[in-house]
Amino acid sequence: MAYDSDNVFAKILRGEIPSDFIYEDAYVVAFYDIRPKAPTHVLVVPKKAYTDLNDFMQKADADEVYHVMQDVTKVAAQLDVVKAGYRVVVNVGAGAGQEVPHLHFHILSNKEA
Ligand code: AMP
Repeated sequence: MAYDSDNVFAKILRGEIPSDFIYEDAYVVAFYDIRPKAPTHVLVVPKKAYTDLNDFMQKADADEVYHVMQDVTKVAAQLDVVKAGYRVVVNVGAGAGQEVPHLHFHILSNKEA
């Protein structure tokens, strides 16, 4: 699947749609999901243009994979949900419910951040 730069997260990353980032570094931004499915529901979105997890693993180098995954755990720590527990969900493909064709990691916790 070719990357579609009109997707909503690409627009958020370009600043065309406003969003409050709760975390940002060279690799990712993180913001609250607009339709939360748990008391805490945050999205960690890599800055580079990957359609999904498979695309990421095919194109990203080991350094970027390390930093993106480390950032998922950093955001969970910042949200203070590590002790309570949290889930990381990555939907791959429309058949799995992926609505936005730009790689993102859902952080979901039953504890309110
Ligand atoms: P997925 O179904 O895995 O592609 O997840 C996409 C997620 O993005 C859904 O949980 C949506 O609620 C969320 N979403 C869509 N648009 C926005 C937005 N503008 N700001 C925050 N979250 C969004």
